[in-house]
Amino acid sequence: MSLNRDLIERDLRVLWHPCSQMKDYEWLPLIPIRRGDGVWLEDFEGRRYLDAVSSWWVNLFGHGNPRIGDAIRGQLEELEHVILAGFTHEPVVRLSEMLVKATPPGLDRCFFADNGSSAVEVALKMSFHYWRNVGRNDKTRFVTLSNSYHGETLGALAVGDVALYKETYGPLLMEPVTVPSPDCFHRAPGESWESHSRKTFEAMESCLAEHAETVCAVIVEPLVQCAGNMRMYDPVYLELLKDACQRHDIHLIADEIAVGFGRTGTLFACEQAGISPDFMCLSKGLTGGFLPLSVVVTSEAIYQAFYDDYASLKAFLHSHSYTGNPLGCAAAIATLGIFRDEDVLGRNRALSQHMAGSIADLVDHPHVGEIRQHGMILAIEMVKDKARRVPFAWQERRGLAVYRHGLSNGVLLRPLGNVVYFMPPYVIREDEIDLMASVARAGIELATSS
Ligand code: PMP
Repeated sequence: MSLNRDLIERDLRVLWHPCSQMKDYEWLPLIPIRRGDGVWLEDFEGRRYLDAVSSWWVNLFGHGNPRIGDAIRGQLEELEHVILAGFTHEPVVRLSEMLVKATPPGLDRCFFADNGSSAVEVALKMSFHYWRNVGRNDKTRFVTLSNSYHGETLGALAVGDVALYKETYGPLLMEPVTVPSPDCFHRAPGESWESHSRKTFEAMESCLAEHAETVCAVIVEPLVQCAGNMRMYDPVYLELLKDACQRHDIHLIADEIAVGFGRTGTLFACEQAGISPDFMCLSKGLTGGFLPLSVVVTSEAIYQAFYDDYASLKAFLHSHSYTGNPLGCAAAIATLGIFRDEDVLGRNRALSQHMAGSIADLVDHPHVGEIRQHGMILAIEMVKDKARRVPFAWQERRGLAVYRHGLSNGVLLRPLGNVVYFMPPYVIREDEIDLMASVARAGIELATSS
């Protein structure tokens, strides 16, 4: 029996995979991966797959990146982990200094966790707790955008709006106030992203005016609603939102877990609007995709509202066992070091342009409703009726046909519903972009031909 086959059989006896209907694996085989190198993943029989989705959007500088690997190995010689309550260590201090410097002005305090959802939970709890600490006990709710996604734990799920993940658990979830997304897929024909984003902001403005007394914070994914089918909007929305939050005494939580670290063209997406949120959640690319780590960066003013004598009971008593893990911090320091030492954003601008050019001809395809892009995220939306933008029924699983075609041709594309997207590691070469695009093009042809 082949090593691939053997591993699949052992796996299916004991594992339960994430985000999967396990029965699908009866006819859609798992792919065991033996090693990774740059943008490539390789199975046990030497078959290679170009990782066009950066392994769930985490990988920035390639699998097996030597600089990050060496940093982790070096740290392993010194200290693998230590409790972060009452104790500290050099990597977590250094990383915090680097994050304070790299994030927009006014974000000066780092609170660590170990995955994206947990960072969102931290930001929600901190915002709520801040308002209690300053005597605003009526502030208990959160405002979110339709089609948003912030993770799978109950608090994060509650402030998200992707029905597929959320609906089942409805009875367990707190209820946010949901405002229509600025999603520019829905703009009028010929309308600019900016104009559409401005127009949709009116609903947010009136919501904040109406609920200012009871709302703790607005939470958004800046510029791209990634899990919500890579829907995008204009930076002007964030500019208007920051201003409104300030006027109404409401926090702004920027969930940059997916879009942070250069994905949209700037180091952080908020920079394109020239704003500083009150909380910025970071994870995924933070460690270059090597280890689980997350952080909430917030302001000194928020921190100070918790700073008091113990008996005041104002402290933020939240913790995760692996908070600020030194190995993860070492990986993150190396990742930020690459941004510091190399012109990553400049290189990405050229790659983004090449990516746009590689697939531009598809815009005229009768079943392509839109091609949209923010930097190193490019999405192609397949539609049933191009003129009226009628979607294919989800039951038809058109994206799955693209996924299967991709795998048969050495490219890991993982469409979200009817949306095929590219979110590759930044070390991808132009010829590899061309390969990714040609396989996607053929996959879309195939998936929409009947
Ligand atoms: N927020 C956003 C915007 C995300 O894209 C994700 C993950 N896809 C999360 C939060 C949750 O992160 P994690 O999967 O690490 O819990």
